[in-house]
Amino acid sequence: RVPTRVRMVVGNWKMHGSLALCREMVPAMASIAQPDTALVLCPPAPYLGEVARLAANTDVQCCAQNVADAHSGALTGEWSAGMLADLGCRYAIVGHSERRRHYHETDHMIAAKAQACLEAGITPIVCVGESWVQHQTGQTEVVLQHQLGTLLALPDWRRLIIAYEPVWAIGTGVAAQPDTVEAAHRYIRGRFATRDPIAGNSMTVLYGGSVNAENAMQLFALPDVDGALVGSASLQSDALMQIYTAA
Ligand code: PGA
Repeated sequence: RVPTRVRMVVGNWKMHGSLALCREMVPAMASIAQPDTALVLCPPAPYLGEVARLAANTDVQCCAQNVADAHSGALTGEWSAGMLADLGCRYAIVGHSERRRHYHETDHMIAAKAQACLEAGITPIVCVGESWVQHQTGQTEVVLQHQLGTLLALPDWRRLIIAYEPVWAIGTGVAAQPDTVEAAHRYIRGRFATRDPIAGNSMTVLYGGSVNAENAMQLFALPDVDGALVGSASLQSDALMQIYTAA
């Protein structure tokens, strides 16, 4: 069964927040979440259990910011996709540019993590995107082609969610221009569609990089944008509520 495009807003807290923020944010978001537009919170790993517990029986979903590429083992400091499923988490972010940069995650490692998620019934939200230099030198599509290539080798690639996050727009306060976003999303969708047109056009493709309450509406109006991966604005419940309402 091929999944269909899903409207979604994903709040990535990165290494921010507290137990108090979990207890403020989850009920606030649960009060506005609707079943037709996914509202997903990604707290730091120590808070996943609390968010999953608070989000149970609401329309808020819980998501990890990272996951191991193995199901179990002597891997101190890691956690598996099966453990996330056990908690009631449905999603995991995989291959965020901060993981690629600071923890040297390669396309190969990212594909292995996505595969581990798919095997455990967790939907991976795989981040792709080019650097500023690559953007400036017109290499965006080449970079995306490369990043998506290893994902297309996964037997279950149809179940991936892709987040297009131009590295230069993350945490800068300046989102990519709508025409840049639309072109990249169309390219990503097209890349999957060359393999299977129906599945390619049914994939959920999110935009991430300085999404805020002011620019969300314009980004969500783009035909190939299904939602957003939100960083800093996801730490404030009023900003995240406004972004979700725009979706
Ligand atoms: P930002 O982060 O919204 O703070 O730019 C986005 C992300 O890294 O997912």
